[in-house]
Amino acid sequence: MFTLPPLPYDHAALEPFIDSETMRLHHTKHHAAYVQNLNDALKGKDEFLNLEIVDLIKSFDKLPKEILTKVKNNAGGHVNHSFFWKIMAPKPKNLPSRPFQSLIKKNFGGFKEFQEQFSNVAMSCFGSSWAWLIVEKAKLEIISTSNQESPIAKGFKPILALDLWEHAYYLRYQNRRSEYIDAWWNVINWEEVEKLYKKALNK
Ligand code: MN
Repeated sequence: MFTLPPLPYDHAALEPFIDSETMRLHHTKHHAAYVQNLNDALKGKDEFLNLEIVDLIKSFDKLPKEILTKVKNNAGGHVNHSFFWKIMAPKPKNLPSRPFQSLIKKNFGGFKEFQEQFSNVAMSCFGSSWAWLIVEKAKLEIISTSNQESPIAKGFKPILALDLWEHAYYLRYQNRRSEYIDAWWNVINWEEVEKLYKKALNK
C-alpha cells in the first residue's frame, strides 16, 4: 500500500508565499486522494502495491491495460507531490551555494536568467501541468509535463519542480499564476536541490 508522506514542515510554514489553507488542502486532500485512488486501482495486485513509488512509475508497461490510466495519473500525482514538498522549505537560504550558482550560470547564463527562463516555461504551460529542472548528461534543462506525468517515468532526473495546477495557487492568487511563480522562488530548498543534483550525477 502507498501512504501519504507527512509534510516536512507545518501547513503555515511557507507563508506568506504559499498560504496555509492551500498547503492544507493540497496535502491532505489533493495528494491524499492520489494515494487513495492509486491504492484502489491496484487493489489485490500486491506485486505492484509492494513497489516503491519511483519503481512503480517506471513499470507502467507491466500494468494491465484496464487500470493503466488510473494508475498512471494517480501514481504520477503521488510521486510528483512527494517530490514537490521536499524541494520547498520555510525561510530557506535564498540562493544556491556558490558552486551550484556557477553551474546555473554555465547552463543558463546567470541565476536571474535561469529564473526568467524557468518562469517563462511555467507561464507558457497550458492547463494543469508542472515545470521541472532536470539533469540530462550533467547538463541542466527546463522541461514541462502535462497533468500528472512524471519526468521520472520517462527516465529523466528531476531536481526542482513547480506545481502549476490551479489547486496549487488559486485560493491566494486566483488567476495570477505569475504572482504565484514569483512567490515560489522564495521558498525553494536549494540544499535539497543540490543534494538531488549530486545524486543524479552518480546514478
Ligand atoms: Mn498539486
